[in-house]
Amino acid sequence: SGARVRRARNKKLPQYLERGIDVKFSDVAGLGKIREELEEIVKFFTHGEMYRRRGVKIPGGILLCGPPGVGKTLLAKAVAGEAGVNFFSISASQFVEIYVGVGASRVRALYQEARENAPSVVFIDELDAVGRERGLIKGSGGQERDATLNQLLVCLDGFEGKGEVITIASTNRPDILDPALVRPGRFDRKIYIPKPGLIGRIEILKVHARKKPMAPDVDYMAVASMTDGMVGAELANIVEVAAINMMRDTRIEITTDDLIQAAQIEERGMLDRKERSPEMWKQVAINEAAMAVVAVNFPDLRNIEFLTIAPRAGRELGYVRMKMDHVKFKEGMLSRQSLLDHITVQLAPRAADELWYGEYQLSTIWAETADNARSAARTFVLGGLSDKHHGLSDFWVADRINDIDSEALRILHMCYDRAKEILHQNRNLMDAVVGRLVEKKSLTKEGFFKLVELHGSIQPMPPSV
Ligand code: ADP
Repeated sequence: SGARVRRARNKKLPQYLERGIDVKFSDVAGLGKIREELEEIVKFFTHGEMYRRRGVKIPGGILLCGPPGVGKTLLAKAVAGEAGVNFFSISASQFVEIYVGVGASRVRALYQEARENAPSVVFIDELDAVGRERGLIKGSGGQERDATLNQLLVCLDGFEGKGEVITIASTNRPDILDPALVRPGRFDRKIYIPKPGLIGRIEILKVHARKKPMAPDVDYMAVASMTDGMVGAELANIVEVAAINMMRDTRIEITTDDLIQAAQIEERGMLDRKERSPEMWKQVAINEAAMAVVAVNFPDLRNIEFLTIAPRAGRELGYVRMKMDHVKFKEGMLSRQSLLDHITVQLAPRAADELWYGEYQLSTIWAETADNARSAARTFVLGGLSDKHHGLSDFWVADRINDIDSEALRILHMCYDRAKEILHQNRNLMDAVVGRLVEKKSLTKEGFFKLVELHGSIQPMPPSV
């Protein structure tokens, strides 16, 4: 019996295995054509031999792209469920540890388990946490992450019988992934999962209503109509809350009214549900304050109406930007100078991150606005607004792409420095705005301009291009 005990001890239980996955495609609603693509992945498992014999390459990895809560995890599970294979999962943020080497050894352990228990699906949630382009993050955090990423690349490449283990990863930011990750043989297949439309929302509500005692005349259309912008996770929640509502009233059927009430709660609840650490609140506040403090220096952008860091429905980062006078911008009426100012404002969060946290901070908060800045800078150059190149004709030639990019980069650098300079000069104002936002979660127009009056040092000196 000693031997048996020893054997049992030696056989380590798989750490990353999720048991009893019983999800099927029919549990995931509103997929449309995406479903066919995923059915094909199931076939790689169930008909692997056939694919191999015909020389069809089986993908090493599949990237599910889309905002949180649209069902990426659910889909990965459904693939494993339909194929009847094991499901291993880890969140990439678990990979990134302070101690160098821990992340990498977790990746190795994950894949070893998956291979020993093949066929299996390996699911990596939030791949961007570890898969961001190398070199973007400096310092020890960056080093550890690079080591983890390198290990992941090795594991993705590292086995003969592909098709036995297929990796599915989810990300909301496929654009910032390290190019090495998306090379052929690795995550060479991208599937986009958008937020559901009206019909999709009806279907999702119905899937979750399947196991509930619904009244026969429930008006799903009415509920779907009032949940614009919501994702599957939120819709699932609405059905749960409606059921609780019914129970509370000791009724036996869930009615349209229950659903509508639940939808209202979901909408409002989202305002304050997301819990943030004090440091996180501050980081979001710095992000918002930076834009406002820089914008107030520019004539076309200083019309700031409202600032808030309260989480809101349908926003990835869960906060609303301040309202600025974007009318002119939208109508293409911005002057050349205003467009530069706009770029500067969009770069303010990134600049603030550097000033307040230094280069070592791992943050993606500014990613969205930095993207806005990048595309605006290209517009600027393509529109022939940069002094270096007058007129459009220069740029209709394909081999000018490098010129455009380097000129756009020059403009970005210039605007970035300008944002940093303004923030540096307005440290007191920043502190005041951040302090107030963290405390009250929002600032009115009057409140903001009062602080500008008290603490601001406005020196609107336009940069010259
Ligand atoms: P993601 O991985 O994209 O963040 P999840 O797969 O974790 O989203 O979704 C969370 C939950 O929301 C699921 O377990 C499911 O109950 C519900 N859900 C999300 N999308 C859908 C969908 N398309 N159909 C049915 N339920 C969904």
